[in-house]
Amino acid sequence: MSVRIPVIENILNANDRLAHENRQKLDMAGIFSINLMASPGAGKTSLIELTLRHFAEHYRIAVIDGDIASSIDADRAAAAGAIAVQVNTGGECHMDAVMLQNALETLDLAEIDLLIVENVGNLICPASFQLGTHRSVLIASIPEGDDKPYKYPPMYRGVEALVLNKIDLLPYIKFDLDYFRRGVEALNPGLVTFPLSCTTQDGLDAWLEWVRGGVELARHG
Ligand code: MG
Ligand code: ZN
Repeated sequence: MSVRIPVIENILNANDRLAHENRQKLDMAGIFSINLMASPGAGKTSLIELTLRHFAEHYRIAVIDGDIASSIDADRAAAAGAIAVQVNTGGECHMDAVMLQNALETLDLAEIDLLIVENVGNLICPASFQLGTHRSVLIASIPEGDDKPYKYPPMYRGVEALVLNKIDLLPYIKFDLDYFRRGVEALNPGLVTFPLSCTTQDGLDAWLEWVRGGVELARHG
């Protein structure tokens, strides 16, 4: 009965140790790194593309794309100007610190200012696996519904910023913003939130400014 719990704890501890090593490498290289998580279709790749287009002339950006299969998202990131690395997770529904460590080894970290990890699209376990990145960011989107904080509390607890994408769809979809915000606030009080639309680009500037602040701090800190 009691055997399985210690085994799981040991796996997580090993992951946390590697995550710590990853963080040290990123810190030494002066890189600001983001772990981007969301359900499939929330707009991770679209937000990455817009972020790349905005900063392409100012920063050197790498994107590590975790997917169960395919390199569609990494191809899109490369097309938008990033150094893109595809990680096929071999069926795993999340990225872990080993996968990030292996991906980092393929990059010249001294040549990178900003690293964006696009985690596997999944609202259940990615938040449980530390990667060593500086900030965990969750993208929620209007079509997913206003009840997601109540249904997936660990995802909302485990992040340092929240993007609420597809706000251009608010007139067409039943989504109670107050109900959503109350759910978020109960789990993660004061969580910095960016309501935006990748389609119309409304609200995008606040997100870009937040990213820019992180990169500047990592460069000069
Ligand atoms: Mg994607
Ligand atoms: Zn998983």
